[in-house]
Amino acid sequence: MDEIVQERLHRKQVLAAAFRLFSKFGFNEGLAGHITARDPERPDHFWVNPLGMFFGHIRVSDLILVNHEGDVVEGSRPVNRAAYAIHSQVHAARPDVVAAAHAHSLYGKTWSSLGRLLDPITQDACAFYDDHALFDDFSGVVFDIEEGKRIAHALGEHKAVILRNHGLLTVGQTVEEAAWWFITMERSCESQLVAEAVAKPVLIDPEDAALTASQVGNHLTGAFQFQPLYDRIVLEQPDLLE
Ligand SMILES: [Zn+2]
Repeated sequence: MDEIVQERLHRKQVLAAAFRLFSKFGFNEGLAGHITARDPERPDHFWVNPLGMFFGHIRVSDLILVNHEGDVVEGSRPVNRAAYAIHSQVHAARPDVVAAAHAHSLYGKTWSSLGRLLDPITQDACAFYDDHALFDDFSGVVFDIEEGKRIAHALGEHKAVILRNHGLLTVGQTVEEAAWWFITMERSCESQLVAEAVAKPVLIDPEDAALTASQVGNHLTGAFQFQPLYDRIVLEQPDLLE
């Protein structure tokens, strides 16, 4: 099989699996949420979920291809306007990014309302130490690519950005990586909310947090952490590959 065709199929299979997992973890909220994968042949096009389709039903054949102007060029269903406005600008600003994930997951959006970055309170949370940002400018649903540009600017060179009063957005050099950072960032938000509800958590000191970040927060580890989840969901829901 042609290398590009193979890579495209791989990205789409992991993307469909990521939606099934996001559904299983309860990250969907009505129409909100999108994960995108850059097309390996046309780098200004991305694959995404169709508007209004339940994450838990998405198969490879349901994914749509959107161009840099927001037109659906493969697939018959419409694209979520916010998915285009945010993801097109993130993909444009970050050529190294193959995938981006955003959803209105409960703990991510709750944490986002505090307008704070996550602290290094656990080994897992260190994946985000000195590697996430805050977008501190909520102004309604993102339908405008200018706001998408501002979000991409806030993200900078990091792996994630907290959109205040909105939720989380993560990126990766692979679909696996972007999906994993989203899952573990959501859990890190839950963990800090729970800890702070009881008392003031002890922070990992900066030197150890930076070392741990290099161990658990690198691209390869991020992608590898997703592998058991991929194997689990393909075994449980093999129709996602159709
Ligand atoms: Zn959103």
